[in-house]
Amino acid sequence: MKKKILILAGDGIGPEVMNEVKKIILWFNKNKKTDFDITEELAGGISYDKHGTPLTDSVLNLALQSDAVLLGAVGGPKWDKLEFSKKPERALLRLRKDLKLFANLRPAICFKELSSASTLKPEIVSDLDIMIIRELTGGIYFGEPRGVSKLPDGSRKGVNTHVYTSDEIRRVAITAFELARKRKNKVTSCEKSNVMEAGLLWREEVEELHKTKFKDVELNHMLADNCAMQLVRYPKQFDVILTDNLFGDMLSDEAGMLTGSLGMLPSASLSERDKNGKVKAMYEPIHGTAPDIAGKNIANPLASILSFSMALRYSFDMPSEATMLDDAVREVLKDGYRTQDIMEKDRKKVSTSEMGNLVIQKLH
Ligand code: NAD
Repeated sequence: MKKKILILAGDGIGPEVMNEVKKIILWFNKNKKTDFDITEELAGGISYDKHGTPLTDSVLNLALQSDAVLLGAVGGPKWDKLEFSKKPERALLRLRKDLKLFANLRPAICFKELSSASTLKPEIVSDLDIMIIRELTGGIYFGEPRGVSKLPDGSRKGVNTHVYTSDEIRRVAITAFELARKRKNKVTSCEKSNVMEAGLLWREEVEELHKTKFKDVELNHMLADNCAMQLVRYPKQFDVILTDNLFGDMLSDEAGMLTGSLGMLPSASLSERDKNGKVKAMYEPIHGTAPDIAGKNIANPLASILSFSMALRYSFDMPSEATMLDDAVREVLKDGYRTQDIMEKDRKKVSTSEMGNLVIQKLH
């Protein structure tokens, strides 16, 4: 059956890295029994330039009808001075909100071949495989009231509200527990229950859900600041880390960096299952548009390629194809090929498109 993929390459290096993903999707169509139907559209700054908005309603509708959205990255200095509602990043927030993508999955996997690129000792990170699940549509980034107001004395006050309901906590916790069952069966839930009421609610709801539905999964609670420390001390103690929007933003960046390169890190954002069992999903590398290297054919496409591998696994239920793609990436690294961001002594430097071609050769 045809699977609909919407590609939103975005700005900066987005189109360059997504071009490599496209080649890989077409390789699967030609050589495996897949029938991916690709549509390409604009999002971010490039959409603003053409349509005056970072995401048109028609592109949003296409996203809603797709089986998976693959996004490059959006933004750049050209659009930095636009008002908040027109900024390229609004495209992401709107997609996340309207597709109801409440769970953000960020694996931090350190290929043995790249362990020396980490700032931590290779033995701490080599073969690391953890998954951070960040709640994505609630918490302080969306809570009301919010805004900046003027005080009677002429100074200003900025307000954001950290708010979670038990339903919001439970649905993301279910994603974490279910995913843990397919991994090492261990969830560490992180909040600040010592100083935040909403943090205490988070802990109680996760605990209750665990007791009633997921007793078979090992559950630990950890304060988010301690988790930040433990991630650099002994990251292999974790399997799945479950956390809210704000702490997840930071902890997932920190965990990502354990692996040494932004150019290697994929992510997935998933919705709840609808009544037909369908999950909406968006897959994207965690890096941005890298304006400093855009247009030079030197960006690392592997984060985007690995994001497509997550799509194979989570949207298309093709775990063996996903593993095949992950293995192809590993083999290319083993053979010593590197884009400049992960370049080391005595390795062979390749361009964006060469890296894509090498992965395809390995798939063959
Ligand atoms: P960035 O991730 O774009 O770049 C940070 C550094 O990492 C740069 O030196 C860049 O060259 C390098 N880098 C990033 N990805 C790389 C890759 N695939 N290969 C090789 N090197 C890579 O972060 P930034 O500089 O803070 O942001 C630049 C723009 O991207 C900003 O406009 C920001 O808002 C936007 N941004 C978008 C997203 C997104 O679309 N999801 C995420 C982060 C930043």
